[in-house]
Amino acid sequence: MKSRRIFLQKASLSALAFTALPAFSNAKNFTVRKEDKILRVAIMGLGSYGTRVAEAMKESKRARLVGVISGTPSKVTDWQSKYGIPDKNCYNYENFDQIKDNPDIDAVYVITPNALHKDQVIRVAKAGKHVICEKPMAINAKDGQAMVDACKAAGVQLLIGYRMHFEANTLEAIRMRKSGELGEVKFFQGLSGFVIGDPTQWRLNPKLSGGGAMMDIGIYSINGARYMLGEEPIWVTAQETKTDPVKFKEGIDETIQFQMGFPSGAVASCLSTYAMNGLDKFFLNGSKGWVEMQPSTGYGPIKGTTSIGPLELPHVTHQAVQMDRMAAILFDGAKPEVPVNGEEGVKDMKIIDAIFAAVKSGKRVSLT
Ligand code: NDP
Repeated sequence: MKSRRIFLQKASLSALAFTALPAFSNAKNFTVRKEDKILRVAIMGLGSYGTRVAEAMKESKRARLVGVISGTPSKVTDWQSKYGIPDKNCYNYENFDQIKDNPDIDAVYVITPNALHKDQVIRVAKAGKHVICEKPMAINAKDGQAMVDACKAAGVQLLIGYRMHFEANTLEAIRMRKSGELGEVKFFQGLSGFVIGDPTQWRLNPKLSGGGAMMDIGIYSINGARYMLGEEPIWVTAQETKTDPVKFKEGIDETIQFQMGFPSGAVASCLSTYAMNGLDKFFLNGSKGWVEMQPSTGYGPIKGTTSIGPLELPHVTHQAVQMDRMAAILFDGAKPEVPVNGEEGVKDMKIIDAIFAAVKSGKRVSLT
């Protein structure tokens, strides 16, 4: 019985990959029509994740790297020769407002330290280009909202780099919950963490990061709780532990446990840490079934098991899928299963604000 179930599960997953959600579940099956516009992207911030996105974009069918914005001239020349980027599409942080006069760039992907996102996104919006901004979109909800407002006022779209919103196994877990296969879902657990290295890096400088593990990795559990449960939290409680106050100075959280309550009565119990390795796990429990994913948000392959069999949709480079889907959102008005717009980013920022307030007060903080 169990193997038949697993077979059926696999069969339904492959059917899903090729029929029900073709545009948002499997990049290999993503077809580009002749009339589809290609998204021409400039990356701002040529660091570790910017490099990953640039490499992934080679696999994209609807997005192409055409420009760079950087404070490091040597990286610019490297990238120019590596990706064939012309001089006219290269900018620095002082002159990138001039991008408004460049008809060959459609969007700027901001991949810089968190605290810089707000001003950079607003400047790109004022230059009339769509903006993709990395998570966390800002360092608090107020700044996030200012970014949303600026993009609206400029008539450009703001998307947040939530790559998991396009990941096939994640979408299948969401489908199972939505279809009722899991029954009444009452509990989510999210564990997000790694041991951070170099104490001099910007991630441990509150002026550039806006916070510690929570901004960087804990946000995956917050965002995951919302898309796995399909609800918005109405309260949070949170407790902080700090074992190394030198490395994790004032304004940089090391480990925070937090809980969220949802309107249905469901609860989420999560851990965000910079002091433990290998924490990348989601667990969703319902009255009829469950889903466990580990790893759940890393670069993949994402691995999952459910009460009726394994989750094993094929791995496709997350950032390549993300960029293809973002082209479809920006140019064709496509609606992703889980939103990636600026408002979605603000929702996570409001929860982070509330978690920090709950740590400080020791009290439950309402989100309504
Ligand atoms: P890095 O430190 O590797 O790169 C950041 C780049 O930003 C730098 O290389 C630099 O590029 C530019 N920069 C501009 N101003 C500064 C400054 N004052 N200090 C340091 N760098 C500066 O960081 P990551 O690439 O790991 O992270 C960047 C963003 O991407 C963060 O918001 C992070 O949360 C997000 N991220 C998202 C991931 C995801 O899976 N979605 C994964 C990893 C990160 P240059 O020299 O070209 O100016």
